[in-house]
Amino acid sequence: MAYDNQNIFARILRGELPAIKVYEDDQVLAFMDIMPQADGHTLVIPKTAAVTLLDLPAENAAYTIQIVQKIARAMEKGLGVEGIVLMQLSGTAAGQTVPHVHFHLIPSSVHELGKHAIQMGDQEKIAALAEKIKAAL
Ligand code: AMP
Repeated sequence: MAYDNQNIFARILRGELPAIKVYEDDQVLAFMDIMPQADGHTLVIPKTAAVTLLDLPAENAAYTIQIVQKIARAMEKGLGVEGIVLMQLSGTAAGQTVPHVHFHLIPSSVHELGKHAIQMGDQEKIAALAEKIKAAL
């Protein structure tokens, strides 16, 4: 699938839409999911224009995973959680709804996950959780 420059995450990367950010560098952005499947649900995205994981150059994927580890450690420390579900939906057939590759970090057990991208979270609560993650980075 061709990359759509108007997808929501491309617009967040360009600063056209707001996001509650927890980490950013020249290659990667991490921000809070607005429809969390558990408290603290965070997304990590490479800045590279790629729809699925399979479109992402291997070196970008490798760097993004380093940041996934960094954010996961900060979530464990800052939120006081032990287990984190790492989810990556690659392709619409898998349920991917935003066509820019991203990794979900969800502090939960796979047996207790909320439904995917269904209900808006409480934005103040999400912002408070983001502060805890940022403080632990
Ligand atoms: P996926 O279905 O794997 O593509 O996941 C897309 C995720 O993006 C879902 O978990 C949505 O809740 C989340 N999402 C959609 N729009 C936004 C937004 N504007 N800011 C933050 N997260 C979003």
